[in-house]
Amino acid sequence: MGLKGPFLHSVLFKKGKNGYYDKATVIYRDIIFRYSMLVRIEGQPTSRPFKDYELANWLLDNNTDFRDRYTIGPDRYTKRSSRIKNTIRKIQGKIDDLIKLGLIKRAGTVKQSKGTGTVFLYEFTRHTYFFLALLGSVGDESADEEVYNILQLILTDENAPSIFIFYSNLFKKIKERGLFSEIIIYPLTEAFFANKTYSHIMDLIFAKRELDDQKIMIWNSLQSETLKELDKDTRDRVLLILRDRIQDNIVSKVRSLKDYEEALIRSKESAQTLAVESYCKDCNTYVCALVDVIEYLDAISFPTDEPIRKICPTCSNNSLIIPKIPP
Ligand SMILES: [Zn+2]
Repeated sequence: MGLKGPFLHSVLFKKGKNGYYDKATVIYRDIIFRYSMLVRIEGQPTSRPFKDYELANWLLDNNTDFRDRYTIGPDRYTKRSSRIKNTIRKIQGKIDDLIKLGLIKRAGTVKQSKGTGTVFLYEFTRHTYFFLALLGSVGDESADEEVYNILQLILTDENAPSIFIFYSNLFKKIKERGLFSEIIIYPLTEAFFANKTYSHIMDLIFAKRELDDQKIMIWNSLQSETLKELDKDTRDRVLLILRDRIQDNIVSKVRSLKDYEEALIRSKESAQTLAVESYCKDCNTYVCALVDVIEYLDAISFPTDEPIRKICPTCSNNSLIIPKIPP
């Protein structure tokens, strides 16, 4: 684990000391903000495949730095074909960075039109267009609809994991309540500009968002509702992931890790049980217990000052207090 990059934010927004974007940043920006629009298939969040040759050719005419290089200075007598070759060499690392960030993907190879070599084909991903719509939604609320639609396409892809189906259904409910902008779009945009170390576009899509208590309650209650509507197999798969997230948060707060470890092992027997550490007010002691994950999620959708109560296995009183720790 290290902060090596490339990072989504610095690649596209890094400025030099003079307050202007670096030359390298301008190349990334030209590719992501301009070229992606040129090759976009109309009305869809996808692009046609393009060759490195085509991209280099376009940059030579449209990127200020490349253009200047070959109109002023000694390089102005370089043949077009050599200019393109040099440009491909210069941008290869940048294309690789954009692939790592999830903004471009390889789309196969084709035979070179001249010569015997092969050239790579690339495509912009749906995530690129999601990201562009998200950035575009700042100051233009009509873009919110597009953010939603592209996100749904990503989440309902035929290879999507169960957790994506779950989020797709959950986001639909949030949208139906007219809260998609407030619960998803604004917090995600804020997260992007606040945390500059996202190294893949999916990290941003599932970024931790800052929500006020009321929105957390809405999120939690819609989350429980969505879970209950899933078929059993999908729900079990989703619960495995949600449960791990809740338990990860609990681990960092437990008093007796040894007891909690035992409870964690027991919780593995069913996807629907969650290991918690609770406190008995009457015995004055910490007790680890298993609770139903969905019941727990239901409980945390109520105001945080009302704790979850259970029967204590030691004194049999209704005095076991389970802290609410959201996923
Ligand atoms: Zn007790």
